[in-house]
Amino acid sequence: MRVKEDENFKNVYWILDGKKLLATRNLTPGIKVYDETLKEVQGVEYRIWNPRRSKLAAAIYNGLKNFPFKRGSRILYLGIASGTTASHISDIIEESGVIFGVEVAHWVMRDLLRVAEHRKNIVPILESARRPYSYSWLVTEVDTIYEDVAQPDQVDILLKNADLFLKSGGVAVIAVKASSIDVTLPPKKIYKRVEREVLGTGKYELLESIDLSPYDPKHAMILFRKK
Ligand code: SAM
Repeated sequence: MRVKEDENFKNVYWILDGKKLLATRNLTPGIKVYDETLKEVQGVEYRIWNPRRSKLAAAIYNGLKNFPFKRGSRILYLGIASGTTASHISDIIEESGVIFGVEVAHWVMRDLLRVAEHRKNIVPILESARRPYSYSWLVTEVDTIYEDVAQPDQVDILLKNADLFLKSGGVAVIAVKASSIDVTLPPKKIYKRVEREVLGTGKYELLESIDLSPYDPKHAMILFRKK
């Protein structure tokens, strides 16, 4: 078994074990977050990052070019749920970074609190991302906003948060679930509509749009840079 750091993304690894598996280096060795596989290579523990469990992993498998997560990054995560994807981001940004994780469902938040007990770079916030002023006393300016709320007004939620917290030059990542926005339209039309809505503000430029099929059919990940 061999391990190789990704050519473009620091702290993202590929485990070569017959197959090529995406992984991050476990910030909390010996502790799992969900039912991910742990692999030890030359005394270092890695967590396999499954593209069927995480849309960010699916985007990497599908050729994502921009990766706004690195050691020390400050992230606002809208819809962090129980921390599956966030735990890999937590591995990547290490202790010097921080994830402000907003989640509205208290039963999911219980699981996230367990994760945040070990991972000191995750700050759980039980609140609706529709009310960014309610956590503005806690959240600082951030480098990246990652939104995965699967709500019909998800563009509006993203823009409100980005106005308040995203630095100029920062990146907004939106995981779009087509059926949450409009079940009657083909997904590609919905992705274009999301792009138009964000670009229509005049405050962002489009970085890229990645279809997440076959890992997450009818989902896309769209990245914008704030001007
Ligand atoms: N991003 C997670 C991951 O990859 O591990 C999965 C997120 S799941 C698809 C969507 C989450 O968004 C749910 O946990 C849901 O409770 C949360 N959510 C929905 N509306 C929200 C809102 N207004 N504010 C905060 N969280 C919200």
